[in-house]
This record gives sequence, C-alpha cells and structure tokens, in this order.
Amino acid sequence: MLTDDEWASVLPKFELHTHLEGTVRPEDSIAMAKRNGIDLPFESVDDMRAAQDYGEPALQNFLAYHYAVFSAIRRVEDVELIARRYVERCAENNIRHVEVHVCLQDYVDHGIDLDELLDTLHESALSATRMGVDVAYIYGINRSLSVASAIAVLKVIDRHPGSVVGVGSCSEETGHPPVMFAEFFAAARDRGLRLTAHCDCDQLNSVEHIRQCVQEIGVERIDHGVNILDAPESLLTEARDRNIHFTVVPTWRPSDPGPRRIERLIDMHDRGLSVSVNTDDPEEFASGHLSKLIAGLLNDGRITRERMIAIMRDTVRASWASVQVKEDALAELQVVEDASASDIVVS
Ligand SMILES: [Zn+2]
Repeated sequence: MLTDDEWASVLPKFELHTHLEGTVRPEDSIAMAKRNGIDLPFESVDDMRAAQDYGEPALQNFLAYHYAVFSAIRRVEDVELIARRYVERCAENNIRHVEVHVCLQDYVDHGIDLDELLDTLHESALSATRMGVDVAYIYGINRSLSVASAIAVLKVIDRHPGSVVGVGSCSEETGHPPVMFAEFFAAARDRGLRLTAHCDCDQLNSVEHIRQCVQEIGVERIDHGVNILDAPESLLTEARDRNIHFTVVPTWRPSDPGPRRIERLIDMHDRGLSVSVNTDDPEEFASGHLSKLIAGLLNDGRITRERMIAIMRDTVRASWASVQVKEDALAELQVVEDASASDIVVS
C-alpha cells in the first residue's frame, strides 16, 4: 500500500489557482534582483523562508512579501526562466493541467513589453506541452489600479489570441469590491474569455463580494471564496445550482501546525459545492507545491483518498482545459480509484 505521501505524489493532478509571480524560488529571486539591480528586503534564502510566516494582518503582510519578490522581475528573460522552472515543478508533481494567473499590468510598470511577454508565455506553454504539462494563463487584474488600465491590457491580449484563457483578479481586495470591475469583466466575456475572481478569506465584506461575483458579474469560478459558508442559504444554493467552482487554498506557513481551512473545505464539499485544492503561490508558503499540499491534507486525517479523488474530478470538470485533456485526466483518475486498495503505481 502506498503511503499518503507516495499516493499524493503519483495522483494525476489539475491545479486552477496559482500566480506566476508566486512560483519564483527564493534563490532565483535573489539572483534576479542582483542581476537587475533591485534591492530586496531579504539577504538570503533563509531570510525569505522565515519571512513567510507573515503574521497579522496576514493578507496585507503576504502581499508586501509577494510584491517585493515581484519587484525583482524586470526582463522578459526573467519570465521565461520562471515559467520554465515552474513547469518543471509541475511535471515533478504530476500536474497534467495548470491555470496560472499573471498580473500583466504590473509588468508594464516593470518596463516589460506586453506583446513580448505574451509571446513568451505562449512559447512557454508550447514547451510545457512537450513535457506533458498543459498550461493555461489567466490575466489577473491588479485591483488597486483603474478599470481603464485593466481594459487597456485586454486590447493587447486581442493581438495574441489564445495567449490567455480567462481573466481573474490579484492584489488587495479591501476597498476594491468586484463590482467595481463589472465593465472589465463584461469586456472580457465579450471577447470569449472565461471569468474567475478572487474573494479572499475573511476580508471585510467577503460575503457581499461573493454575492457580487455570483449575481452581478456572473463568474464561473471564485478563487478562495470560503466565506460562501457564511452567506445566506439562498446564495450558497444558487452557487451550487449554477455549478460555480471554488478554488480553495489550504496552504500553511512555517509556524502553522498543518494545513489551514480544512474544515471549511470539507464543509463546502459536503454541501455539494464544486471545490478544488490549490497552492496559490507555491514558493511563498511552507506547503509548497501541490503534491506536498495534498499529502499534508491526507496526513491530517480528515480528508480521505476517496474524497481527494472526488475533489480532483470536480477540479478537472471545472477546468478550462480542452475536452481531450479532461477526458484523459478523468480516465487516469479512474485507474487511481480502481487501484486505491492495492499497491499499483499509476505513474
Ligand atoms: Zn490567488
């Protein structure tokens, strides 16, 4: 019988919620900052890992760390390196399909040409396919910038059809409710792009923001969104009936005893919501990449392998991968399920 760690490692996976800028290894951040003449507020890899405890306010402190790392990315070659390294990690983690937010507006501020950036991302997705990893990019808007700025990037994306599959949101939520960007989301939908939006955990007006996403913007997916459990039953029912998917992030920090938000993940799943398990920013949390995160959930004991397979099926179905990629993954999951009581290694 495989151990939980082995089982989590060989499980074929889809991941729907990561951010490219959160996949940079600390050693690469330090090298990149040095090369680009950027002063990071960290001296070493150990400093960076220690800073990942974040403290309170957790989201704001996390964002300060995240944007410090992001500040070192100054050239399209940096993005090419980050994307390549991340795909290597996805392959090691048996991730068949991954959807990656890229906060395109901020790259413009960093002096990177968006046309070149989108070409680079497209090339990197093509080479990922050759490594058995299907990559789709999501344009995540910076919510502290204007709607006009968000829409201006859509016009660049128009010149690169197929470079991104959908739109979502990054950055600070407080003071920037989803409905503020309704015009942007409508413009994206008109272009045939898929819609997701972040509703971060336990923020001011979390439930109202989820309501806006469901009822006013009409998203297909909500990133995080665990406060749906605090919403009136009618909103939860509407989300379930419309099969809105929630990308839950049960990551942990260096001093956490284990995965966070497990009860809420289980509660959402038990109430019939479509949910997935995601690393968000795998190099910025102690939980790391997806195999380790899933192993952590299994080791905790409250999530069984059977439930994990059911969650992964929801993830595949809710993804924006092609029909063929989804069918192949569902067939692989069936093999894992059939083998679950034996020692068969599926990968
Ligand atoms: Zn996120």
